[in-house]
Amino acid sequence: AQRTLVLVKPDGVRRNLVGEVLRRIEAKGYSLVALQLRTADRELLAGHYAEHEGKPFYEPLVEFMSSGPVVAAVVEGHRAIEGFRSLAGATDPTTAAPGTIRGDLGRDWGVAVQQNLVHGSDSPESAAREIALWFPELG
Ligand code: ATP
Repeated sequence: AQRTLVLVKPDGVRRNLVGEVLRRIEAKGYSLVALQLRTADRELLAGHYAEHEGKPFYEPLVEFMSSGPVVAAVVEGHRAIEGFRSLAGATDPTTAAPGTIRGDLGRDWGVAVQQNLVHGSDSPESAAREIALWFPELG
């Protein structure tokens, strides 16, 4: 089975949506392999968001992502990478389809970074890289 890294971002933890996000993942048939609640430091986030370094939203993104605890999960299942991204919906919570996590629960607060509740790896390469960053003990 395939593994993906899922984050419930600080807005999701602050809004008490951790259970709701995990419920949707489990209801879809995926399994939790590892789970942790922690506040990410800038070093971890620099690794996680290396591809966005230099973009205008990079600094606010790292600031936001380190503003409070996140839940990191390794989620497993057949085609779990694509499957979770489908559950999450489009990046912009205003236009994310209803039925998705971001479409049902996310909103645009008019701030510099999209506070869109969750992250999911976008490819097998990203998943392997991100799982190694967040859960080095699984390596
Ligand atoms: P994620 O990677 O978080 O699952 P994604 O793949 O839809 O979502 P990316 O393009 O990887 O989004 O961007 C990472 C994060 O940076 C987004 O989830 C969002 O929080 C923020 N972000 C991306 N693009 C923008 C933008 N144009 N303006 C503000 N914030 C953005």
